[in-house]
Amino acid sequence: MAAESHCWFLTGSQGLYGPETLEQVERQSQQIVDQLNESGQLPLQVQWQPVLTDSEAIHRVMLEANADSSCLGVIAWMHTFSPAKMWIRGLGALQVPLLHLHTQANAALPWSEIDMDFMNLNQAAHGDREFGYIQTRLGVARKTVVGHVSDPSVAARIGAWQRATRGHAAIRRLKLARFGDNMRDVAVTEGDKVDAEIRFGVSVNTWGVNDLVAAVDAASDAEVDDLVQEYGDLYDVVPELGVGGERHESLRYGARIEAGLRHFLTDGGFGAFTTNFQDLGGLRQLPGLAVQRLMAEGYGFGGEGDWKTSVMLHTIKAIGAGQPGGTSFMEDYTYDLTGDKHKILGAHMLEVCPTIAGDRPRVEIHPLAIGDREDPVRLVFTAASGPASVLGICDLGERFRLVANEVDVVPPDEPLPKLPVARAVWEPRPSLATSAACWLTAGGPHHTVLSQAVGTEELT
Ligand code: MN
Repeated sequence: MAAESHCWFLTGSQGLYGPETLEQVERQSQQIVDQLNESGQLPLQVQWQPVLTDSEAIHRVMLEANADSSCLGVIAWMHTFSPAKMWIRGLGALQVPLLHLHTQANAALPWSEIDMDFMNLNQAAHGDREFGYIQTRLGVARKTVVGHVSDPSVAARIGAWQRATRGHAAIRRLKLARFGDNMRDVAVTEGDKVDAEIRFGVSVNTWGVNDLVAAVDAASDAEVDDLVQEYGDLYDVVPELGVGGERHESLRYGARIEAGLRHFLTDGGFGAFTTNFQDLGGLRQLPGLAVQRLMAEGYGFGGEGDWKTSVMLHTIKAIGAGQPGGTSFMEDYTYDLTGDKHKILGAHMLEVCPTIAGDRPRVEIHPLAIGDREDPVRLVFTAASGPASVLGICDLGERFRLVANEVDVVPPDEPLPKLPVARAVWEPRPSLATSAACWLTAGGPHHTVLSQAVGTEELT
């Protein structure tokens, strides 16, 4: 995202009050913008726009917001009262995210001083209700935040919305490359790619896996050398894979996949991709380490051709950028159904993102029963403990559905010395029984995104 990304602050009023009152409205709305920008809670700057008092100006500013690629969203507040039929044409045209800030200039009601002039100026309490009505009547998607801007929780909620606008901007222009199709006969990884482009903007297309093989084979020895050096700096490389180790060539081939895959994605302008272990063409290993490291750079990924989860992973990473904690592709694998708090052990064949790691990852090599190729190299680690979100997206035929569960990642009860893949152990809230029953009833997918950086506040 460009450094100059920002959002606009729109103040609604009307001409009825005369220029003196409108000057006060202007000053006070500028003060609110200043308070927000000085809160230290906003990832994007808020830019004040002139007070809006008629339908023509409202429509024009919405078109300008759409056309300005650095304007990621608009915040609207009805100081005084802004008759909402004036907003119909503008709201109908708006294509960037909207936040309705229900606030007022003063925090305290001046009981001993209040007169009708004050009442006429400070009537957002009903002015914003008029605006809420027309948004609901029009079916306008928006986030509504209530409270005085000096309240840190109000600024924090606006900050979370601003992070979500980065996700909206990312998915609007995302290009995803699929290497091969979906895993045969799997239902939930299918979906309507045309509908996805209409609704979200993302472009999803397929390449033959041997196009990737050509890029892998073209990677230079110097690039492979550099990556092997980097692995040694960042991870614990097991001796058999290290320089001089008997399986060092497997690590070098893993690095070659990474270099080739990065070239392919960079050259094509892709922000996300999928692989399918049933369609590996001339690849000698299922991409494991390479996928893990590209996820850590912000790329979306889905296994078995799962483009929807890959799109969501890239989008959630864009939302969570700069926040503490990481975000990974994930799959509910197996349960611990003992004790008070039942647990889920999540993992995948190989592809878990090291941004969620709680310990220094190890580079290891182990056999993989599926995929019919040489043993793949992979990063092995356990996810950091703490609150997180598990998110799934599915195509219900007539629309997409997003399913979310707040969870607590916890340490494994015991060491897992024989498990050769990265993993996360979590306790779903409020319980596994409620969580899993709701997930199953909603038709939620088995592939998910686990995020320590993005929560319910950004997603609602
Ligand atoms: Mn899978």
